Formats: sequence, C-alpha cells, structure tokens
Amino acid sequence: MVTHRNKSSTDRGQKSAAEVQDANLVAAALLYDMASLQGTERSRFGYKRAAKAIARLNVPVADLVRAGTLREVPFVGPASARIITEFVTTGASPTVEAAIASAGKRAAIVAQRALRDGFLSHAMLAEALESPTAEGVVSTRDYRGDFQMHSTWSDGTETIAAMAQAALEMGHSCLGITDHSYGLPIARGISMAQAARQWLEVDELNARLAGRFRVFKGIEANILVDGHLDVQPEERALFDFVVASPHSQLRRTEDQTTRMVNAVKTCGVAILGHPRGRMFNSRPGVSADWDIVFEQAARRGVAIELDGNWHRQDIDYLLARRALEAGCIFALDSDAHSIGELRFSDYAIAHARLAGVPAERVINCWPDDRLEEWMRERHGRRGSSAKRGGARRAPRSAPTPRRPRRG
Ligand SMILES: [Zn+2]
Repeated sequence: MVTHRNKSSTDRGQKSAAEVQDANLVAAALLYDMASLQGTERSRFGYKRAAKAIARLNVPVADLVRAGTLREVPFVGPASARIITEFVTTGASPTVEAAIASAGKRAAIVAQRALRDGFLSHAMLAEALESPTAEGVVSTRDYRGDFQMHSTWSDGTETIAAMAQAALEMGHSCLGITDHSYGLPIARGISMAQAARQWLEVDELNARLAGRFRVFKGIEANILVDGHLDVQPEERALFDFVVASPHSQLRRTEDQTTRMVNAVKTCGVAILGHPRGRMFNSRPGVSADWDIVFEQAARRGVAIELDGNWHRQDIDYLLARRALEAGCIFALDSDAHSIGELRFSDYAIAHARLAGVPAERVINCWPDDRLEEWMRERHGRRGSSAKRGGARRAPRSAPTPRRPRRG
C-alpha cells in the first residue's frame, strides 16, 4: 500500500479522505516485505523489529532521514536504514524490488501487502488527530467514553474500577464494560451468573462515582457462523447494550455477508464490533459485501465499530467512509484489555476523522440520556428501531457523501 486513491472523491480537485499518505507505514511495510523474503528466522525477526519501530515512530521518517538520525531509532540497522532512505529519497526501494524479483515471490508479496491496507502508523495517528477537518468532524475533545473494553472478569488485566478511574483521568465521563460472553471460553468468557455478579459491582461503582462517571453494562457476544449470537435473546435483554463481534471464520475467502447482516438484524445488538476481525499483516478477516451490511446497520441504528486496537484498526477510514455514506452511526472504541490500551481509542478517532465522520454520528460523543434511549431502542423497548438510530438526529450540516475531509 502506498496511496489510496478514490477517483470519485477527487472529482472536485479537493484532497479526499481516500488520499491518506502514510509514509511511515509504507516504509515499515517495505521492511515487512523484506522480512517475508528472508531465509532465516533471525533476519526475518530483524526486519520485523525494525518495521515495528518505524510504525511506532511519532515523527515522519523523512525528517529523520534528512537529519541523518535514522540509525538512532532502536532496532533500525544498516540494511533497514538503506531501504528506508531509498524510499524517502526516491519514493521506492530498488533493494526490496530486486529481492522480490530474485525470489520470484511477487504474488505472495502483493497478497501480504493487502493485509496492511488502511492501517495507520503512529505518526499518521498524530497527524490525523491534529490536522484541521471539516466542521463537526469528531475530535478527541468530543469523546466522552469508550464502549468496548475488557476487565479481569474475562481476559483483561484490570478491574472495572481501575479501568473507570483511568478513563476518568483521561477526561472521560462514561464507559461501557464489555467482557467476553460465555461462548468464547478461550478469552475466559463470562457466564450469565458471573454477569449478574458483575452488575452488582457496576451498580456499586456507579453509586460511588455518581455525577462524575457512568459505567454502562455491556457484553461482547460472538457472532456464530450463521449470524446468530451465542448470547440468547432473554440474556441479551439484561445488558444495557450488546457488542456483537466475529471471532471465528476470519481466514475464509468465502463471502459472509449473510452472517454479518443476520448479526446486525439481531434484536439487542447495539454495536457491530471489529466487523472484519482482521489482524495486521496476518489475517484478512471476514469477506463480505460491506455496503449491504452497512445499509442494514444504518436502518436499525446499529453502530459500526472502529476498533482502535493497533493490530485491528477495524474498520479503517476507507470502509468507514462507505459506512458514513450508508448513513451509519459509529462506535469508536479501544477494545482495551489493560489501562495502557485505553489509548487505542485515539486510533479509532483518527480513522473516523480521516473518513470525515461527524461527532453527531458517534455514540461515544452522546450524553448519557441519549445513550440510554439508543440502547433501549436497540432492545426494541421504546422508539422505533426501524428508524436510523442516532443518524436520524443528524443536523442539517451533516456531511454529504462527497464532502472533503479537510475544509
Ligand atoms: Zn472481540
């Protein structure tokens, strides 16, 4: 991946969300290409370690090349530095190209590159968070709380109280706790009896934090192969909200549109979590006609998640743009399993900004009463679930599909 171009969005000669140029990620990707061409585990490891270091840089790699300080980045050795310098100075790496040609592995490399499509480097994250956007586009200032995270009840490392305290210190005023459901024993999914005990803990915490912070009671349910959830209807109704996510069949090339559509049509589902289930450089995730899935989600007021876990970035700004055009609302979540990972919400916000998603369409920016109403509607309790959830309240200034991201 070097550049994403979307012809239709450049019709008016304006910079579009589809033209994100993330030089650090491209440089890192060249090192990943090189890693996959190595004959020994040792040299594969060396290139991968250098690639990770470049993806994690918080400054543009070109600045380091110009300043002559690239080799000061830990784990960037002479071979990696040469490739990066070639790329920065010429826009390509003859060294990597020659290695691909001599190995005769172009098809494999092209397939591997697709597994890095739409991911953002750390430097691009900073740029996306800070660069000006069209008016109303979501920013970190609008963000009230994170609606996918895990605690010690399932596979997280912190208590709910500790996660809430950390979120408070980040300036948030609510969160949704979403431990794994019982259908995912590998992630220590919780039984309904455990969930009932968790709710008592949450009630106690909410009483203690009243007026300052609110914890919503969620669950991350599994989307089964046919689109049904592991958590049953009467069980789903007991949670404030349900995140439905795919955790299986994530390497199949067959179309799974029906599975995903069935999931968003399921009563009680509020958020479609990490919709693809992809993983950076290793797993493509679910293959589906996403425009159909997004249309159904928009119709039912189900939020499409931008999961900010760095290795997921799922969905990314490219797909988010299509979800926006379909009229979807969004959940921008960290999927944190520890306090440190709460910062992954910034990646979700960055992708949303690159896609031009307005804060009005982001549940994480809504006040508690609006969140409560939206969650009740997802359970079919009040209001019409046939309407477009939050999107129906979008102001008249909500962006049209082709609105550019930067004003
Ligand atoms: Zn998950």
